[in-house]
Amino acid sequence: MSFSFATVVEALQLSPRLRRISLQVENAAALAIPPGADAAVGVYFDPESPGEGRNYSVRRHAGDLIDLDVVLHASGPGTTWAANTAAGDRVGVDHARSWYRPPPGADWQLLVTDLSGLPATARILEELPRAIATVAVVEVADHHDLDYLPTRAGVTVVSSLGTGNGFGPSQLATLVRQLALPAAGYCWFAGEAAQSREVRKHLRGNGWTIDQYDVTGYWRLDSETWDAKFALVEGDVLAVYERALADGKGDKVASEEFDDALERAGL
Ligand SMILES: Cc1cc2nc3c(=O)[nH]c(=O)nc-3n(C[C@H](O)[C@H](O)[C@H](O)COP(=O)(O)OP(=O)(O)OC[C@H]3O[C@@H](n4cnc5c(N)ncnc54)[C@H](O)[C@@H]3O)c2cc1C
Repeated sequence: MSFSFATVVEALQLSPRLRRISLQVENAAALAIPPGADAAVGVYFDPESPGEGRNYSVRRHAGDLIDLDVVLHASGPGTTWAANTAAGDRVGVDHARSWYRPPPGADWQLLVTDLSGLPATARILEELPRAIATVAVVEVADHHDLDYLPTRAGVTVVSSLGTGNGFGPSQLATLVRQLALPAAGYCWFAGEAAQSREVRKHLRGNGWTIDQYDVTGYWRLDSETWDAKFALVEGDVLAVYERALADGKGDKVASEEFDDALERAGL
């Protein structure tokens, strides 16, 4: 079992776009949040009938208390929830997991993110386990969002203000292509899904192996149109994912084969 109910303890406006929702988790043992700095949970806004949920990174975790920092973008159930929820409200939380795993030998890492991955990026920087040279490519709205990131020695921030994030075309993949990638590096990506595909291909094209990156699409531009197209090919592309898992390829390879199948289907 990984599901738990949780109660909103506080909702706080951190910046023009970010709202911190602090939750008390009723069954922290069942939820079992992993220690990874990009740990995330699915939040189900109607605890009585957990249907549609949205994923949010665990910005802080202390005992049964967690903080989620939610970007307020144009519209969507997650944005509406974060903008309106108040102390005492209940939600369901489930599917705690994490991805950030630099290989032990990596001495250089690239963190690539837009606003959606800013909370996880902040926690990764805060919890850097060892001296590892870090380049953070961040695409945000303005300087308020850059101020949100902790300052750490050995971290170079490359920023693009006002692009991507639903404001306009994203520059994330372009900025990554402009960097020189060392052979023994690691890349963690959290941001818009089309950009995640471009970045993953670029890393592979530079000879990086699958253990050198954890690239995750956190959201999708114009997801309504994409969802309608996906519904037409869902069975076929999900079969590719299931077959890869059944062949023992593991979730990471299966996810890549799933994304390749999506691309072949024009998605
Ligand atoms: C592992 C993981 C961790 C995440 N952590 C966080 C986090 O800590 N904080 C956070 O805010 N988000 C985070 N996200 C992203 C978040 O789950 C999505 O942005 C989600 O789609 C928001 O739901 P919504 O109901 O607001 O919008 P939706 O109903 O999903 O979408 C409505 C419309 O808004 C657009 N849209 C969706 N998300 C964004 C966005 N971020 N920017 C601009 N337009 C958008 C869609 O294309 C669509 O047109 C995470 C995602 C994953 C997978």
